[in-house]
Amino acid sequence: MSPLHALSRRKFLQSATLASAASVLPALRKSALGPTSVPVESDSLKPGLLEEFGYGDVTLDSFLHEQQLQQTHAVLMELSEDSLLKPFRQMVGQPAPGKELGGWYKYDPKYDWHTFDAGFAPSATFGQWVSALARVYAITGSQAARQKVLHLNRLYAQTIEGEFYGIKNRFPAYCYDKLVCGLIDSHKYVGDPEAFAILEKTTNTALPYLPKTAVEHGRSWRPGTDESYTWDESYTISENLFLAYQRGAGDRYRALGIQYLDNEYYDPLSEGKSNLEGRHAYSHVNSLSSAMQAYLTLGSEKHLRAAKNGFDMVAAQSFATGGWGADEMLRAPGSPEVYNSLTGSHSSFETPCGSYAHFKLTRYLLRVTHDPRYGDSMERMMYNTILGAKPLEGDGRTFYYSDYNFKGSKVYSPHGWPCCSGTMPQVAADYRINAYFRDARGVYVNLYIPSTARWTQDRAQISLTQKSEYPFNTHVQFEVKTSKAAEFGVNLRIPAWAEGASIAVNGKREAAIASSFTHLQRQWKNGDRIDLELPMKTRLEAIDPKHADTVALLIGPIVLFPVTDSQPAMTRAQLLAAKRIGAQSWQVETSSGAVKMLPFTAIGDEQYSTYMKVT
Ligand SMILES: [Zn+2]
Repeated sequence: MSPLHALSRRKFLQSATLASAASVLPALRKSALGPTSVPVESDSLKPGLLEEFGYGDVTLDSFLHEQQLQQTHAVLMELSEDSLLKPFRQMVGQPAPGKELGGWYKYDPKYDWHTFDAGFAPSATFGQWVSALARVYAITGSQAARQKVLHLNRLYAQTIEGEFYGIKNRFPAYCYDKLVCGLIDSHKYVGDPEAFAILEKTTNTALPYLPKTAVEHGRSWRPGTDESYTWDESYTISENLFLAYQRGAGDRYRALGIQYLDNEYYDPLSEGKSNLEGRHAYSHVNSLSSAMQAYLTLGSEKHLRAAKNGFDMVAAQSFATGGWGADEMLRAPGSPEVYNSLTGSHSSFETPCGSYAHFKLTRYLLRVTHDPRYGDSMERMMYNTILGAKPLEGDGRTFYYSDYNFKGSKVYSPHGWPCCSGTMPQVAADYRINAYFRDARGVYVNLYIPSTARWTQDRAQISLTQKSEYPFNTHVQFEVKTSKAAEFGVNLRIPAWAEGASIAVNGKREAAIASSFTHLQRQWKNGDRIDLELPMKTRLEAIDPKHADTVALLIGPIVLFPVTDSQPAMTRAQLLAAKRIGAQSWQVETSSGAVKMLPFTAIGDEQYSTYMKVT
């Protein structure tokens, strides 16, 4: 959420890190039934809308995904309640014992906004952390996570006073949005009986201090304040307000959702006119999820068009990784700025926040349209950005920007507990709800991740288990288990790049068409097997049409990054002939030597590039 060019360096207040985050946690539950078989939301009644699975209905068996979940969760569980409550208490004048978390989370009455450093957004991530803990409870059934949610909500409730949203707070709407998210997730996933009452008190207290409508970034709405008070994000809050309404918090949340819709942004988008130039990247992609909720809650076709067109316009200015918004800015179509950022910036994509917004938007769009290209987009972003992020650390170190500069590297943000420390635990919890969807007639497999989805269909208890080394192997195997034979559809996403794909059901192989969901409808029996083959060829993607010789190398869904300090001259043919030299490594032979190519998930501290100039 920060403006760029934050120059100051964070001094770590605490040096202790969680050396082995995974060992702190009880093993994630692998049992058949999650703690919550969550009732579907009212939007699921829309005809044709794909439903999400409950968090507890999908188990993942992928080291990278589960490691990220366990690490982020361990960090949240270790945070002291007093430290988490400290800025709330300080800002309303209550006794505030305990250690500072520091970084952006800290409240500093003498904060100098020019530093963008410690004190930037006090307590802003609290609601997201409560949300992530609630989602982890829905996944694992961890009583410790549940107790932490309940306890934090009650402690927070004691601090709700107007002063928190007043002049001390640069981001009242941003904080309110996250608090709403935490409370409605506490209600839905943890069953906190107090959640809606605390939400009411929060809303009653916050509203007098919020603008009356969506106010765009950079616009002053509080007289007598400096420019740092114009960075709030009231144009993103409708999504969570509509969700609060759908989950039963009351009709006022529907009305508030309407009140904060940013139609100044959506109206031109709905007519296909680009309206992205100069807008803050993460928050405006996130705002498209509010447009999707306007469609799902109100039936507004205009807002669906705005979200679809907005997605297309963002995709057109995306990097090969799926990331977007260099220097946190969206651009006009055909802008040279995306290309220029390869030399001019190391702040290429705000990865945890950006991927969180991207996954939400594409999940909505996929559920509404059944169009597999939104799944392709989720997959690309997952494997090439967030899954390769450095782990969140207990002292607030957070991976913020992916770096697509010709001299790129993976580094932590210089700021402790920035915005991305709030979204990363939510992203890590959500992989399972991105992977599978369902409707009355069957299941949709959207992401290929070793995992199992469980559901009930015509009173049959069914599970679908996928095993693979995808994306490092072209073969994905599925096994159906069912308590009795049952007829339903299994829909498998065939990515746009997967020409020559094929599917075998119990050994009988047939061709599958790229850019589609292949529909397998039959009477499924226990032990039925599906073998999916997704051929992966190397291909090149240019940074933009005007710079056709600046290309990224892809194979299947993954980008291969040259890991080198100096780029040797290479040709298209040499790049396309990249040779596999290990389970997750490739090599390109050039006239001046070999260059190692790695996927983002396999890059450590080496210098790398994303794009190459070919001759
Ligand atoms: Zn962020």
